[in-house]
Amino acid sequence: MHNRPHASGNSVASTRLVSRQRRPRGTEVPLGKVTVGGKRIVVIAGPCAVESRRQMFAVGRVVKKAGAHAVRGGSFKPRTSPYSFRGLGEKALRILKEVRDACGLAVVTEVVSLSELPMVLNYADVLQIGSRNMQNFALLEEVGKTGRPVLLKRGMMATIEEFLLSVEYILSQGNDKVILCERGIRTFERYTRNTLDISAVPLLKRLTHLPVIVDPSHGTGVRELVPAVSKASIAAGADGLLIEVHPNPDKALSDGFQSLAPHEFTALMKDLALIARAVGRSL
Ligand code: PEP
Ligand code: MN
Repeated sequence: MHNRPHASGNSVASTRLVSRQRRPRGTEVPLGKVTVGGKRIVVIAGPCAVESRRQMFAVGRVVKKAGAHAVRGGSFKPRTSPYSFRGLGEKALRILKEVRDACGLAVVTEVVSLSELPMVLNYADVLQIGSRNMQNFALLEEVGKTGRPVLLKRGMMATIEEFLLSVEYILSQGNDKVILCERGIRTFERYTRNTLDISAVPLLKRLTHLPVIVDPSHGTGVRELVPAVSKASIAAGADGLLIEVHPNPDKALSDGFQSLAPHEFTALMKDLALIARAVGRSL
């Protein structure tokens, strides 16, 4: 790859733990009963925020039936405005656990600050660290110490190198169960919420030994674009997807405009199975 040292796959001294050379065959990270980073493509689906028990059971049933492996939903939401819906907190975590037990889905939920980490640990299979917290180094170290699988989202203004250095904060605590998530970066473009960096997928697969997933929902911010970008991500080598799904997107308390309705998600899963097969993988 020309003469760019970071893209060559050579170990950069400062990103040594994450380097592909350290584990050429790659790392598989547990996600409930399956793993991310192997032959299987994993799908994590659910609303932006947990709003009610009824909403989450509706989502859980439909995404499970469509073939998803994990359910997502924010309990503590990092909102740009403090006046937006901020999540139901521990009540949301209890609902997620109920849905996990009833539907047989792993739970992925965001930990926004150090103070609620012990509480989230009681409920989550995978700890999501959001884009706004990618450089919250104290939080990265603490989730590293827990040994729990972590889903680390790329900062919306982070370079790949900054992303890799944030991963080092987690790995250096002895936890290498980290799933990397490309969720789009902020550019001059306004027709989409973010600009999804599809090249980040093969690049991160080449540079690191960790699984890489894509979030086409925040990556585009446009419901109609989510299916095509999901398919492109799998074709580009992503190990999975994080997709926002809501039983009634127009009534969602957050991110409804980018959330798929249940029938749209079900149709997408059928297409994804075809793409997965075309690239030698399965859903
Ligand atoms: C989310 O997944 O709901 C979220 C807040 O994403 P991000 O941190 O990528 O903005
Ligand atoms: Mn969201």
